[in-house]
Amino acid sequence: MTMKLEYTAEQLAFAAEARSWLEANVPKDRLPSMDTEAGFAAHREWEQQLSDGRWSVVSWPAEFGGRDVGLVEWVLFEEEYYRAGAPTRVAQNGISLLAPIIFGHGTPEQQQRWLPGLTDGSIIWAQAWSEPGAGSDLAAIRSTATRDDSRGGWVLNGQKIWSSRAVWADRGFGLFRSDPAAQRHHGLTYYTFPLDAPGITVRAIEQLDGGTGFAEIFFDDVFVPDADVLGGIGDGWRVAMSTAGNERGLSLRAPGRFLAAADNLVALANTSAAAGADISAATRERVAEAWIDAEAYRLFTWHTVSRALVGEEVGSEGSINKVFWSELDRDLHETALELRGAEAEVKTGDHGSWVDDYLFSVAGPIYAGTNEIQRNIIAERILGLPRGDRRKN
Ligand SMILES: Cc1cc2nc3c(=O)[nH]c(=O)nc-3n(C[C@H](O)[C@H](O)[C@H](O)COP(=O)(O)OP(=O)(O)OC[C@H]3O[C@@H](n4cnc5c(N)ncnc54)[C@H](O)[C@@H]3O)c2cc1C
Repeated sequence: MTMKLEYTAEQLAFAAEARSWLEANVPKDRLPSMDTEAGFAAHREWEQQLSDGRWSVVSWPAEFGGRDVGLVEWVLFEEEYYRAGAPTRVAQNGISLLAPIIFGHGTPEQQQRWLPGLTDGSIIWAQAWSEPGAGSDLAAIRSTATRDDSRGGWVLNGQKIWSSRAVWADRGFGLFRSDPAAQRHHGLTYYTFPLDAPGITVRAIEQLDGGTGFAEIFFDDVFVPDADVLGGIGDGWRVAMSTAGNERGLSLRAPGRFLAAADNLVALANTSAAAGADISAATRERVAEAWIDAEAYRLFTWHTVSRALVGEEVGSEGSINKVFWSELDRDLHETALELRGAEAEVKTGDHGSWVDDYLFSVAGPIYAGTNEIQRNIIAERILGLPRGDRRKN
């Protein structure tokens, strides 16, 4: 299908309104990392400010704090958001991974109870999917949920790991094995729980850079009432997979983020050159390559949006997006550090943000499903290659 990159007058007015609000409201100084306690609190406040301006969840229905706009406006908003240098979203896991599940599988009561807190940062959610033996092979989950009829609910036991910011978050969502006799993908159910519930222990995992953004979550007879189960019993895999595609594709990584980073990289190259730095031909090429790739990702996204707007399924193509944006992000930040030379090793002044963003970019090929797994999906489901021999991997 053809793609027309022309916006309506309303769409342009929407983007202009977003731009002027962001210009007036984006904090002048970069907030501390949201993987620290102070940074988490500062980012939570920013969520409240965004919500006050009704810019927190633009594509949601107005009754839940959105502006009822479509995909095109959402992508335009994201471009404005990153161009303005606005903070990363501490509510992102809740908004992009949990909210679609609440909209698609939640009861009306759950929607009323959970959606408002998602939009204004008052309830920050942690994704509790991975386990020590279940990362890439998520269906290997061993944490259990046992029926407790007398209390009208379920009892959770087991361990989750790599849960981003669970140390300071309010609630968690994740899969547990509710039917031990059922086959791997069956017998899983999706539960939500407060992270301070009796029986839950959240233990921070200290990272190499000193941050404690990750946590292990231990469940020791944690009671979850039926009202907090999302979707049907035993239907957890289907429910979870309905958002895994979101994480890999559009919702987690709109192109605005990379367009802004590529522009900053070009500016960095220009100021370095103006200050007399001798930039090698290879580095210049890498700067140009990063900028071209960010533009290519933007165009690919608009193509995806055009297809979605006429009702086409996007599906496994989210895996192509995932591999592309994660490698683009890593290459772009490596190039920035190359430009910085020896200074890149020092985390001071504005070097700090390049180093922080570089360190985060290294994780891109791992989270949201590792790139090795995404390549398997592309090979098998898009290219139609035969299934690989899992035992050799
Ligand atoms: C920044 C960051 C944030 C994260 N946040 C969260 C979070 O909030 N909540 C959460 O639940 N999890 C989170 N994770 C965890 C993440 O989802 C897992 O790290 C990821 O799914 C990989 O699982 P694993 O670490 O167990 O690696 P493994 O699955 O053990 O894989 C190890 C290596 O083997 C490769 N491999 C495994 N199987 C195959 C195969 N069949 N074919 C080819 N190669 C294979 C993998 O690609 C990888 O390179 C986060 C991770 C990162 C880095």
